[in-house]
Amino acid sequence: MHKKIRIQFLLTVLIFLFAISPAWGGGYIHHEYVWELPFDSSADTYSTRETIISCYNSLNGELLNCPFEQEITMVTPYEGNSDEAIKNNGGHTHDYTTRPLYWPADGEGLEFDYDTSSDPKMVVGRTNDNGYKIALILHHMPEIGGRMLSETRVFVPDPLHWVCSRGCYSNTETRYQTIIDVAIYENTFINYWWYGFSFLYLSPLTELPDPGEDDHYVKTGQKTTHPRNHYGTTDTIAKLEDIAKRYFMETGRTLQINDISLPKGGLFDINANWKPSHITHRTGTDADIDVDKKWCVEDSKLRDLVDGLAEEGENRPHLLCENENHEPVDDNDKTGKYKHIDFD
Ligand SMILES: [Zn+2]
Ligand SMILES: [Zn+2]
Repeated sequence: MHKKIRIQFLLTVLIFLFAISPAWGGGYIHHEYVWELPFDSSADTYSTRETIISCYNSLNGELLNCPFEQEITMVTPYEGNSDEAIKNNGGHTHDYTTRPLYWPADGEGLEFDYDTSSDPKMVVGRTNDNGYKIALILHHMPEIGGRMLSETRVFVPDPLHWVCSRGCYSNTETRYQTIIDVAIYENTFINYWWYGFSFLYLSPLTELPDPGEDDHYVKTGQKTTHPRNHYGTTDTIAKLEDIAKRYFMETGRTLQINDISLPKGGLFDINANWKPSHITHRTGTDADIDVDKKWCVEDSKLRDLVDGLAEEGENRPHLLCENENHEPVDDNDKTGKYKHIDFD
């Protein structure tokens, strides 16, 4: 009996040591997922993520002046062609080292209050630099989809002081890691009628499935720089599959579906230079269809099918024809070669 109690006691001590050791060792690692919705379809908007840091004397609650630093990196360097690496990097497999972590890419990325002089990927400061004794860090989110990591390190004089930033901790060096998912999400409302409430559910873009035996489309346009180019909202994907079926029934032709959006949406830089292009292909609601012998302006079957899906009084989905310079033209403009479907 005594022996059993002693073993239990030892186990408790061991569990206790394991449980608190990260907090009292090199730093507390706090994982948090932040979903950002940084953009609509325009090229010059961004959202801002805020981090507030404060330090307290745990005996009298007084605000202290503590040094800190915050750094932004990608969650994993892009390595190889694993599906996860490609998705973490938002579908881009090029120029990893120059990938912008903030927006605008040539402006300030991380701002600590009004001081923007430091390296935009890292801010260094103290919690009372501004006279308020609370630090505010602003991170301008990039328009590029992908998974980033924010690491905040705060140093306090001794463990009797508390550091607060999304939770409070009492160790001398506090490390907070935050996973930031920058992505386009669909807003889906789930209704719980029997409880009388509904809540917003954010779902990521879905991939157009590889065609099965009964499907009459092919996926085209995959590039080594952007190998996964067929992500869209559930509505876009369902309508594309439907259009392909009807198009085959009426014409016997297989629909060649080119670029929709990248796995997490956002900037689709077809020239692989991190510069805005393909502006309408950011939110999973637009798809390019290959010309395939028939110019857009001549493909009246496709136009009838696409425009026929529009609800009463709506003008989307709509087949937009583009000229050789990929500029949209009027429906009956003879220069309209390229096919682009706008679903929303
Ligand atoms: Zn790219
Ligand atoms: Zn297009």
